Amino acid sequence: MTADTTFVTRCRDGYDKTHPGMRVQYNYSSWGYLWMLMGYTALPYSIDIVCPKCGAVFNSITDRESLEKFRFREPNIDER
Ligand SMILES: [Zn+2]
Repeated sequence: MTADTTFVTRCRDGYDKTHPGMRVQYNYSSWGYLWMLMGYTALPYSIDIVCPKCGAVFNSITDRESLEKFRFREPNIDER
């Protein structure tokens, strides 16, 4: 995603980021994908919380510490 992407608190489906059906989307650089092909879990450059229906982005985790934390497990609802 780009820097000027705006986040929504509630999408047109009436969901917010605490909805259990939210998609957690891991974004990796092309190097990251290469690592994955070789069986490593790459560090994502961002983790987006996305509505699975309309694609609205609720949040994007980009700070290094959190990315390390969620590298091997998805953020819980209260961590999004
Ligand atoms: Zn939606």
